[in-house]
Amino acid sequence: GSVVPTDVNAIVRRTLQVLSIERRNDQLEVEVTLDPGLPRVAIDPEQLRQVLMNLFRNAVQAMKGRGKVVISTRVRFGRGTRPGSGSDEPFVELNVTDNGPGISQKVLANIFLPFFTTKDKGTGLGLSISQRIAQSAGGRIEVRSYEGKGSTFAVILPAAVDKL
Ligand code: ADP
Ligand code: MG
Repeated sequence: GSVVPTDVNAIVRRTLQVLSIERRNDQLEVEVTLDPGLPRVAIDPEQLRQVLMNLFRNAVQAMKGRGKVVISTRVRFGRGTRPGSGSDEPFVELNVTDNGPGISQKVLANIFLPFFTTKDKGTGLGLSISQRIAQSAGGRIEVRSYEGKGSTFAVILPAAVDKL
């Protein structure tokens, strides 16, 4: 695929359609809150879909298929990452929150390393690939985790700059 102005909300809706067909499970609650005023981001939509699938699958696996996943989008302002950009640039934030067991400090320090996994049959590649995809779009992935309460992974991507 190629980098194009991408509607993150549309990707979320389409990806969740695929994932809900994949799993008919009433032990899993999925809540979606999409900001309708979201600017588009410059990214390969196929790669963004891959990031969301990775985060969603990790959330479901962490909760052992039972619990609640909240997916949300919002606009957020921060320091730009591109040359010449200012300190108050628009970003799109895509959050995936689960109420699983959370992540210990020791594990947290390693989760973005290629091949790091705590799962019997994990590849340890999902988060490293996702972080790389976010970074190549000028963004990043942040994680907040509370042991015993759950985790939030935030994909933060700069809004696409409209050509004048
Ligand atoms: P894999 O899923 O194959 O293990 P990932 O790169 O996707 O590889 O994740 C690396 C590790 O990060 C996982 O093995 C797990 O320990 C931890 N992790 C990722 N997402 C979550 C989550 N939502 N809750 C708890 N732990 C997580
Ligand atoms: Mg994974």
